[in-house]
Amino acid sequence: MSTYDVIIIGSGPGGYVSAIRCAQLGLKTAVVEGRDTLGGTCLNVGCIPSKALLHSSHMLHEAEHNFAAMGLKGKSPSVDWKQMLAYKDDVIGQNTKGIEFLFKKNKVDWIKGWASIPEAGKVKVGEEVHEAKHIVIATGSEVSDLKGVEVDEKTVVSSTGALELNKIPKKLVVIGAGVIGLELGSVYKRLGAEVTVIEFLDKITPGMDGEIQKVFQRTLKKQGLEFVMGAAVQGVTTKGGKATVTYKLRKDDSEATIDADTVLLATGRRPYTDGLGLDKLGVAMSERGQIKTDDHYATNIKGIYAIGDAIDGPMLAHKAEDEGMACAEGLAGQKPHVNYGVIPGVIYTHPEVATVGQTEEQLKDEGRAYKVGKFSFMGNGRAKANFAGDGFVKILADQETDRILGAHIIGPMAGDLIHEICVAMEFGAAAEDLARTCHAHPTYSEAVREAALACGDGAIHA
Ligand SMILES: Cc1cc2nc3c(=O)[nH]c(=O)nc-3n(C[C@H](O)[C@H](O)[C@H](O)COP(=O)(O)OP(=O)(O)OC[C@H]3O[C@@H](n4cnc5c(N)ncnc54)[C@H](O)[C@@H]3O)c2cc1C
Repeated sequence: MSTYDVIIIGSGPGGYVSAIRCAQLGLKTAVVEGRDTLGGTCLNVGCIPSKALLHSSHMLHEAEHNFAAMGLKGKSPSVDWKQMLAYKDDVIGQNTKGIEFLFKKNKVDWIKGWASIPEAGKVKVGEEVHEAKHIVIATGSEVSDLKGVEVDEKTVVSSTGALELNKIPKKLVVIGAGVIGLELGSVYKRLGAEVTVIEFLDKITPGMDGEIQKVFQRTLKKQGLEFVMGAAVQGVTTKGGKATVTYKLRKDDSEATIDADTVLLATGRRPYTDGLGLDKLGVAMSERGQIKTDDHYATNIKGIYAIGDAIDGPMLAHKAEDEGMACAEGLAGQKPHVNYGVIPGVIYTHPEVATVGQTEEQLKDEGRAYKVGKFSFMGNGRAKANFAGDGFVKILADQETDRILGAHIIGPMAGDLIHEICVAMEFGAAAEDLARTCHAHPTYSEAVREAALACGDGAIHA
């Protein structure tokens, strides 16, 4: 039996970041991970592999659509799917090995196997029981199921299966127009599949700023993705490696079917806490299966904490990381704080979509007086040069104080541009603070400055 200050269960971005921070702060730390590799959903079957495929398929798109116009002539590259998957797997391997290296460097022990918590202060892995003053649950999430849809990871796949299909499907049906469905739908569209997205609601990417939702859907349609909106999927049947999806339109209850080679179920994820023994311990859970915690990530059982996808809040890797760090710092006696009002969300399609803070709809609901500063990438020299003029930056600021309340970007490198605004928001900046900051020319970030200028006396290049 080994004794630790902290044992963390799960090595995703919540768990591994927390472990490294614990070790840096002098706590004797171990991580239990049941998978063969470290890094959790994010590195193995989530953020990293999906971004690898988005990158390679985007390169193909550029070659097919923009190279000739830039004077780059020649045959477009053809797709070697096996090699593309091998490239993706290599990227995963480099990243997961990187966490192993960081664990060794920081003297974090990796206990291999699946953990349960027989009682506070004890973690059981196989036949061994380890002791710890503090236990942090970072067990993440799993794919939510949908009635009538059975995932076999061959014809009907979750995001995990969609990252390793045997071949590129001719017809792909995506159930759910959320981030994961649209990212993976884009990958297969670029690789030549006919892609239809079926969504229960009337708008894609629920919760996003309404204007972004509209422009984003229009952009994806232009790229060839088809949408069936306001449709409740009733079930999927499979025969001989083909699938038929039946759905009902909510507006008139009419039923229709659509055939596919592959169906991707992407209706969301739910917390994963199986096998931990939380019931027996009496750990309080929400109705949605999340572990309930206080502001310091403590559960109702002394010495047991929880972070990341397993608790409330957006299921995002960076949110899990921030909680992991804050939880560790709290255990070491510091007074950390995560600002949930400034957690960016990014969709890595092309163009990218990035948002932070409040949407116009939320501000209207609150009855808050606000102003909008908007700037189109068409007015940005760099974007025009790079065939990336689609989209805009929109900054929402308080009508009276000019304080930035939210920002929504659709356009090139939106996922990177958003962070300038996140930092500004952390400092409680006004739009004028951004507008008066000198931005290098020619960069995409000038569009952020122009949107900030538009909150005041006006953008220059509009
Ligand atoms: C296809 C896809 C794309 C995504 N893209 C993005 C993105 O671009 N950006 C972003 O921010 N987020 C993205 N996400 C979400 C992101 O992956 C999660 O929010 C993040 O991984 C959550 O981190 P976590 O540490 O809470 O849990 P996880 O990463 O889920 O890790 C939990 C780990 O705990 C282990 N575990 C569970 N139970 C036990 C046990 N009893 N004993 C031992 N080990 C256990 C699991 O094996 C797993 O490795 C994506 C997700 C998917 C599926």
